[in-house]
Amino acid sequence: MPRLRRRGPGGGGLGTSLLREQASHFRHRDGKLYCEGVPAEELVAAYGTPLYVYSRSSIVERYRELDRAFSGVDRLIAYSVKANGNLSILQLLAREGAGADIVSGGELQRALLAGVAPEKIVFSGVGKTIQEMAAALEAGIYGFNIESESELRVLSELASTVGKVAPIALRINPDIESPTPHAYTRTGHRATKFGIPSEDALRLYQLASELPGIRVRGIDVHIGSQIVAVEPYERALTHVLALVDEIRAAGIELEYLDLGGGFGVAYGDGVDASIPDLAAALVPRVADSGLRLILEPGRYIVGHAGVLLTRVLYIKEMGGKTFVVTDAGMNDLLRPSHYASYHAVEPAELHPGRPMIAVDVVGPICETGDFLALDRPLERPAEGELLAIYTVGAYGFSMASQYNARVRPAEVLVEGDAFRLIRRRETVEDLVRGEVEFLESSDTLQT
Ligand code: PLP
Repeated sequence: MPRLRRRGPGGGGLGTSLLREQASHFRHRDGKLYCEGVPAEELVAAYGTPLYVYSRSSIVERYRELDRAFSGVDRLIAYSVKANGNLSILQLLAREGAGADIVSGGELQRALLAGVAPEKIVFSGVGKTIQEMAAALEAGIYGFNIESESELRVLSELASTVGKVAPIALRINPDIESPTPHAYTRTGHRATKFGIPSEDALRLYQLASELPGIRVRGIDVHIGSQIVAVEPYERALTHVLALVDEIRAAGIELEYLDLGGGFGVAYGDGVDASIPDLAAALVPRVADSGLRLILEPGRYIVGHAGVLLTRVLYIKEMGGKTFVVTDAGMNDLLRPSHYASYHAVEPAELHPGRPMIAVDVVGPICETGDFLALDRPLERPAEGELLAIYTVGAYGFSMASQYNARVRPAEVLVEGDAFRLIRRRETVEDLVRGEVEFLESSDTLQT
């Protein structure tokens, strides 16, 4: 990690107080955006744009806050890899003691490569393949969160075949409609594909306790993502604890209670989920149950820790609108177009006195849905200048694609005055690898 000269605090940021509060490791000093102690401009000079920039301190502080808040109970914070699966970020969290919540064989490999202990890994997801289950069994993970009777039977058969016993929890669908900003992030009610209906739970726990390849270990629930209120978690806990009583009354022992993740962060107005309030509501009741608590937070840990830096390519006035065309598009940051989600946007360098205008910040992708912000008041930028898109540490890079044959951005991790690349920008060779060998030569086309 190159050591950089420490810079003085400068003459006070000009960013909005809201942004400062939310993404406190990204601040303007003397009108220029810094991540921790490093100017955005310096990162862009080193690695180009679009560029994902993460604050190490932000990630660590968030993880520690969660771990401390729930310290009244035996616990495992299983970071949800899907939020941001960069190996260096996983390694950082593993070194803090985090486990991992995974949903695929790929995420299993990421977690293991980064040094997450297998006995701290839980495997969620409605569509685990036999190959993925086999890899997780082989690794010796802590628990499979099972989402259907068929999956339970397939896992038992597989485990018996390879001479192992698979530790499981059943993921309960508590039929709770959690107040998330978008329907796509609600997972706790009947109309979704997730979990097992509560009325089937006891029968399936009895089945699980009899299947030769299965060891019942826990019970699991995840009600959705981007939830700020405490009350849905309390309701989910009440629901699951009632089932725990029934399961125990049937003579089946349980070791853990996985309450999932989903703790929300503020993208614009609003507040983050209150972890102290959540812990105050949940910890005493979990402690009473004697169960080990597992949490699967993703967004809360890494959401505010990331900013996407993008360069303004062109400014277009059309149809009464001003379009700011950036070199980042929906393939780099999908959330605005997929979830209609809001991300704060600011110039990396502020120019007080410039007019504020309403703009659409749009990408270069050939889709009308390719936007980062719509009808947003912004200090009028000039072509060539940098913009910062805030709170993109979760579901930012991890949802990026190569659509329009675009290479995915580089990622850089900042710590204090130092920074290091944690993923190089892709190249066109990366895009076509896996295809070029299948190009037909002129010979094979001849008849
Ligand atoms: N656990 C499960 C089963 C999930 O499906 C998700 C998100 O989709 C999470 C945890 C993490 O959610 P969040 O990043 O909102 O904490």
